[in-house]
Amino acid sequence: MKVLFLGSGTSTGVPVIGCHCDVCSSDNPRNKRLRASVLVRSESTTILVDSCPDLRQQALRHNLTAIDAVIYTHEHLDHTTGFDDMRAFCWRRDDKLPLYAGSSCLAHLKRMFAWAFSEQNTYKGYIRPAAHDHEGHPFTVGDIEVTPVRVEHATVETYGYVFRCKGRSFGYVPDIKVLPAESRSLLQRLDVLAMDGLTTKEHHTHLSVADNVELMLQLAPGRGLLTHCGHAVDYDSICRMLPDFMAPAYDGLELDI
Ligand SMILES: [Zn+2]
Ligand SMILES: [Zn+2]
Ligand SMILES: [Zn+2]
Repeated sequence: MKVLFLGSGTSTGVPVIGCHCDVCSSDNPRNKRLRASVLVRSESTTILVDSCPDLRQQALRHNLTAIDAVIYTHEHLDHTTGFDDMRAFCWRRDDKLPLYAGSSCLAHLKRMFAWAFSEQNTYKGYIRPAAHDHEGHPFTVGDIEVTPVRVEHATVETYGYVFRCKGRSFGYVPDIKVLPAESRSLLQRLDVLAMDGLTTKEHHTHLSVADNVELMLQLAPGRGLLTHCGHAVDYDSICRMLPDFMAPAYDGLELDI
């Protein structure tokens, strides 16, 4: 299974518009972060997680022209507003594009992009989604098993996901404040776990870097990554603070799991 980080940044991206802090002014390419999204691939299947506002740029950067499904974590705009750019993945296919989300996110997408979900939408230039409400239950895309992991984040229904293929596992939880007790076992001892590490200070809707490390030590993945990072996270300084099995993700990071 291969995982490509299309974007590792929070909702503003990094640099933040108009900000002149050390991280926003840094020359280190690992401090340049598009909005959070990953591509999970097996030999035969490609899954996009979230359609962020930087999707067009990400697709061009990585020559991404086709996906087999899109899966959403939640309805916040930094995870959904690239929806229209998925047209490019529909021009080349005859059938509808499988789309998986929880109930709240799916309702939001149908409200925001009603034309795409309409029965009258038969034009090939539009996105034609085949929508699935996973209701928190595991599902399969090609040869990749996907398990939704319910987490607490802001006031919206939010999921992380565990992807499994050929005995290997990858957990992706970009937005989380609290991991509920009932979700904990799903994230235990994965091969790789990438999780929200927004900032260096306490935050009311996201894990801080310190919160992330504390939770990672409990969940004990083979490798732990921070993602959805903001401009308080300087790549090099945070690297030095993290335990050996952890690192910040960065745009373009590709893992062979
Ligand atoms: Zn977010
Ligand atoms: Zn800044
Ligand atoms: Zn969010």
